[in-house]
Amino acid sequence: MHDIWNPWHGCKKCSEGCQNCYMFYLDAQRGQDGGKIYRTKAGFRYPLSKTRSGEYKVRSGEMIRVCMTSDFFLEEADPWRDEAWDIIRQRPDVKFFLLTKRPQRVRDHLPKSWGDGWENVMFNVTCENQKRADERIPILLDLPFKHKGIMCAPFIGPVSIRKYLPAGQIEQVLCDGENYGGARPCRYEWVRQLHDECAACNVTFVFCGTGRRFVKEGKMYHLEGSVQSEQARKSGLSFSGKPIQFRLTNSWGYPVPEEQLYKPYFGEHCRTCGMQLICNGCSHCGKCGEKSPGADQAVLGIQGMQGQFGQIQALTNAVPADDNGEA
Ligand code: SF4
Repeated sequence: MHDIWNPWHGCKKCSEGCQNCYMFYLDAQRGQDGGKIYRTKAGFRYPLSKTRSGEYKVRSGEMIRVCMTSDFFLEEADPWRDEAWDIIRQRPDVKFFLLTKRPQRVRDHLPKSWGDGWENVMFNVTCENQKRADERIPILLDLPFKHKGIMCAPFIGPVSIRKYLPAGQIEQVLCDGENYGGARPCRYEWVRQLHDECAACNVTFVFCGTGRRFVKEGKMYHLEGSVQSEQARKSGLSFSGKPIQFRLTNSWGYPVPEEQLYKPYFGEHCRTCGMQLICNGCSHCGKCGEKSPGADQAVLGIQGMQGQFGQIQALTNAVPADDNGEA
């Protein structure tokens, strides 16, 4: 699973996708209020932190997902963002995955030296339904970023992005169902449509997970934990399109030699995980069913943000909730 950097924590709900926000849910479980927004202490400078031997903990070529328990462009984070941008600038050898539901705030909150974008930043907008896709993707296409993607998660309504793909700017599309309290169902045909549209334009599509409630052929299935990712993988709907070329450099501006870039390792359990296509390699995240002490933290990162579907017959391992398939 990807590495995670949370320079601040807490958020304000702003759209349909926020309704069952995993961050609010998990904070409540711990007796905390997810609406309390604060700058993290030890974690703020994490991408610059080093080992005792003086090497960066985050290695060249790795991808870090930013603000998985908040939103990078949250208004309350305006006083802290310039410092976060400066940290991103200091690691041109690392890929930073930004995801927002507030793209309308981005243009006024880019760093002064931004120019037409930094090569090490991939900018994504959440498109949980068609309304938000039509609102956010045009803004995404108009913004100066070198790498752009969209994330349909939680995937709570059909989304067509056919008209946005031919521009060639969107390099990756991720989708995932919903989890936690009151999870709304995700439907097979929505995922299939996204897959078909991306395939027609050779854009990488990753079906990360089904969510807790998945509807196929009129049946709703309740899937928990790693089964969601396994079933997404078994669907065969994920595929690699045109590769994304991040031109990473060292701090002097020279390209990082291929042999110095981090090479992901995938363990035995990774074989069944729907995230593998976009994963930095095994970190015992627990998404695949393997249990480890770090599992909860890594799954947090996934939610913030994966043969043909006939093979979903494997869903017979799961439990149909009802026969009409709708909640
Ligand atoms: S963290 Fe994301 S899903 Fe949660 S309230 Fe903020 S923007 Fe919405």
